[in-house]
Parts: sequence; structure tokens; C-alpha cells
Amino acid sequence: MIGTTLPGAQIDASGITTNADSDGRFVMGFDRDAPSQALIMISMGNTVAQFGLEVAPRAYKVTSVSGLPSATIDPPADALARIEADAALKRAAFDSNNPIARGFEEAFRWPLDDVRITSPWGATRMLNGNSQRPHFGIDLGAPRGTPIYAPASGFVVLAEPDMHFEGGMVAIDHGQGLITTYLHQSALAVEVGQRVTPSTLIGYVGSKGRATGPHLCWRMRWRGRNLDPSLRVISA
Ligand SMILES: [Zn+2]
Repeated sequence: MIGTTLPGAQIDASGITTNADSDGRFVMGFDRDAPSQALIMISMGNTVAQFGLEVAPRAYKVTSVSGLPSATIDPPADALARIEADAALKRAAFDSNNPIARGFEEAFRWPLDDVRITSPWGATRMLNGNSQRPHFGIDLGAPRGTPIYAPASGFVVLAEPDMHFEGGMVAIDHGQGLITTYLHQSALAVEVGQRVTPSTLIGYVGSKGRATGPHLCWRMRWRGRNLDPSLRVISA
């Protein structure tokens, strides 16, 4: 959701606190298993406005994926240091909050020209026969080397060519704590700190990391919550 209130007002969205920007614009999101009732509080000085929102439930599929590299299901001991380092890079990217990034309020485009959804967002997945946590990405099938484009403006806050689980990964800060990520890339076309605009080439589809074949896993984060990025396209 994108809202408008007083510039600088503080917004509490069911326990996550954010501040409206200098135009009063703000983002909030509710994740996969959010309760059906959300409480929103907006405060400015001594004034507090409070209202409730209904969060509509969605149905999520249970899917299974087999043939994944076993090192990405049960990582070998010698991969643990790299996995830790990857996690630290991701945490820093997810905490990014560039005050001049305004892409959050743009109409998002799909990151691929041809959209073929091969795994829906939020599905609970059996990976090589073992139950895993929900899949917090939407998988788009495409041939290796297919160009991936920025869906909206922002700043590149992570560009790693070969992470253990994610393979080639890029993260973009769209402002107001809204971060999108692009996994399993075969090669990257951007660097950390680079400004992107809608349709800037960011990299190429691949199958690096925990993947059975070439596809783009597209994800969205907002202040620790995992969101479905395709909703941002559809509602634009
Ligand atoms: Zn995925």
C-alpha cells in the first residue's frame, strides 16, 4: 500500500514503524501470514489518528521441486562461512533506506519482457522431498541469458555474482524501505550504488544457486516483511 499523510508523520503498521517522506508519502505492506485485522496508527506531535484495515486472505499452493543441487539443501560445512557472509550482505541491503529514492510510487513493470510464472509467490515447497518454508519469490521461467530489467527507479544496494543459495543476485532500494531482489542470475549488468530507472538492464537470467534450471526468482521486502512483487505490478 502507498499512502499520503502529513510530511514526516510516523506510521505504525501493525508493529512496524515508518516515517512519511517530505511529501507525506509512505509505504506499508502486510506479509503472507498477516492477521486479518491490521491496526494503523499515524502520529504527528500530540495528534494520533488510528484506524483498522481488513487484510484479505489468499490461498497458497503446496508445490514440490526435485533435482536441486544437494549442497543447496544441506550445505556442506565448508560453505557455511560463505552463507554467513551472504546473509550479512542481504541484511544490509534489506535495511537500506535511501531518502531520495522515489521508485516506490511509480507504476512497476515486470522485470522480464515475456512473463511465464513457473512457481507462484507464497507456495509452501517440498525441496528434494523435504518440507521447507514458504517460497517468498515469484519464479519467472526464461532461457539463460534473457535480459532482466529494473521494474522501477531506485539504487542498487547489492550486486553479488555468485551467492551460495541465490547465485547472481541484485537488490534495488526503491525508497521508503521497499527493496526488490533478483536471484539466480548468470551475469550482472549493474554495480552497487548505481542509479536505475524503469527498464535499466540489471542482469541476465541464469540457474546459479538453489535452482534446477534457468529462471528469475523475483522478490520484494519491506522492513523485514516479505511481499509479493507482482501485486505492485498488477495494482499499478
Ligand atoms: Zn524463487
